[in-house]
Amino acid sequence: MKAYVDKQKCVACGMCVDACPIEFRFGCDGLAESYQEIPQDVVDDVWQVIEDCPVGAICLK
Ligand code: SF4
Repeated sequence: MKAYVDKQKCVACGMCVDACPIEFRFGCDGLAESYQEIPQDVVDDVWQVIEDCPVGAICLK
């Protein structure tokens, strides 16, 4: 399972990067991105981040 950030929606608030840095980082474009398969021990954190993203930019693929 992998998270996906819709960069057309992301407003670079940083919440996902702060809350779950093992899964999210800022790309060179200054917007958030997911960069690896979701480690099993942070699946719950990723679900919370998906719920909390202020613009609904994150989904699972
Ligand atoms: S929480 Fe949402 S808007 Fe904020 S940086 Fe992450 S993807 Fe972008």
